[in-house]
Amino acid sequence: VSTPDDLHGDYPTIEKSRCVFCREPIRTDAVICSQCKNYQDCRKYFTLSSTVLSLLVALFSVLTVAVPVLKNALTPQRSAIHCSLLHWTSEGVSLIVSNRGTRPATAKALKLMARDTTTKATSLQFKPTFTDPILEPGKSRVLDFRGSVSDIFTDIPPIQNFRATYRLNLIIFPFSSERGNIDVGNWNNFDE
Ligand SMILES: [Zn+2]
Repeated sequence: VSTPDDLHGDYPTIEKSRCVFCREPIRTDAVICSQCKNYQDCRKYFTLSSTVLSLLVALFSVLTVAVPVLKNALTPQRSAIHCSLLHWTSEGVSLIVSNRGTRPATAKALKLMARDTTTKATSLQFKPTFTDPILEPGKSRVLDFRGSVSDIFTDIPPIQNFRATYRLNLIIFPFSSERGNIDVGNWNNFDE
């Protein structure tokens, strides 16, 4: 006497199990389900995770962007820009600029600022010749500038003409708690 049974009724001689996906009765030693075509062995994790995997990949690509952003937001970071004159010629001015801070900075301009701010002496600006203004943390680089008046390149007068009445400042884009004007360290004692 055989009782109708999902697992043993139809094929009493073959041991039956259920598909891990669709729960259809299948042979216990079946590698692949005859109904839904899903693998029953360890490969089932791969078929299952093809969607999960792409989600994980998406999650990780978001995390690789988000984690540094979060880290920056939670730890107070700032740049620490130091610069010195390297060259001062009639053709151009070169600075060696180092960032000893933990955040990049952006070089904007090089300016001669009047020491006496009460006089109406105009500040003189140099024109950057570099296209990449980013000052990476922990790195040094040389920044080149040329003399210019209303976008026309001009010869730069000797440094002695400016020392008494001007300070030389590298202008960076300042974040909060950062100075925008960086004094050129060797301005007063630089000799070409
Ligand atoms: Zn199945």
